[in-house]
Amino acid sequence: MRTSISRYNIYSRHLINKFGQKVYKLPVNLPGSCPNRDGTLGYGGCIFCDEQGSGFDALPNNLSVTEQLRQNKEYFRRRFNANKYIAYFQSFTNTYLPLEQFAANINCAATEENIVGISVSTRPDCISEEYLDILCKAQAEKNMDINIELGLQTVNYHTLRKINRGHTLAEFIDAVLRIHRRQFEICTHLILNLPWDNMDDVIENAKLISALGIRYVKLHSLYIVRGTELGNMYERGKLDLITLEKYVRRVISFLEYLDPDIVIQRLVGKGPQNKVLFCNWDTSWWKIKQELERLLEVEDTWQGKKFNYLNGKALSRVWYIDANQSNYHPAGKNI
Ligand code: SF4
Repeated sequence: MRTSISRYNIYSRHLINKFGQKVYKLPVNLPGSCPNRDGTLGYGGCIFCDEQGSGFDALPNNLSVTEQLRQNKEYFRRRFNANKYIAYFQSFTNTYLPLEQFAANINCAATEENIVGISVSTRPDCISEEYLDILCKAQAEKNMDINIELGLQTVNYHTLRKINRGHTLAEFIDAVLRIHRRQFEICTHLILNLPWDNMDDVIENAKLISALGIRYVKLHSLYIVRGTELGNMYERGKLDLITLEKYVRRVISFLEYLDPDIVIQRLVGKGPQNKVLFCNWDTSWWKIKQELERLLEVEDTWQGKKFNYLNGKALSRVWYIDANQSNYHPAGKNI
């Protein structure tokens, strides 16, 4: 019988195992842009993105990297007696900054006291070897634990077009393969209630990131901000949103199909405070998380319960003859 604490792979526990103590992520919010907003790929960005570029819960972006890290360190130190931190470059598309500026930001973080890791948020189509070189240098010279957060949102490439992501699934797979060659860990962001996705898409999300060896996942529920394209659709009554009950079913199915080694950084997203038209069904993210954990317990299910589809699953009934030609064994069984 599994205990509630082992029903999914919790990030905070993973960090303790990895670093030997609690580690806290410090958001760094920098002014920037995104090729999906400045005209390189398109204007307006993803249909859910407001002008803050997903950096709404961080400090003002006119503070330097060092100032933001120090203020946030002080906050976590006072509140949680924290001692080790990961610098999290959160807003906009960090590897779309000029190369020298990106290098300077990474260097600021890598030389700041008690920073043990750097997490860089970006788009799958903004991964190039030059930017990866800078991260390799920080890893080699400053012993930084590096990971890259890639927004994907869904594997459904038709939905990717509808939400105006400006990239398809192929760019995500390409980015993952190239980051893997540098041996950095990857976190993928997914939204499980996009109006054009169904349960099959949710399960395929879990299967694809499991097959690609992604290390971390952040789940979000869609929030809708006034003034965005999605907000306009919502106000015109053009969006068909699923209920909270259906969303919870999707998260549970997602977890069941997910590789149990993948670490869940976030089970439920938080929306911005201002201009929000829809967020988490007017329910606190904490209550949704508690309900998810309760249902995992009641239904006696867990992350990875249905993770049985890789490594030539269709061969499970085929029998092989062993090396000395004397015995037959089912595929997958050690001979
Ligand atoms: S990729 Fe990120 S920053 Fe760019 S438009 Fe989409 S959500 Fe906004």
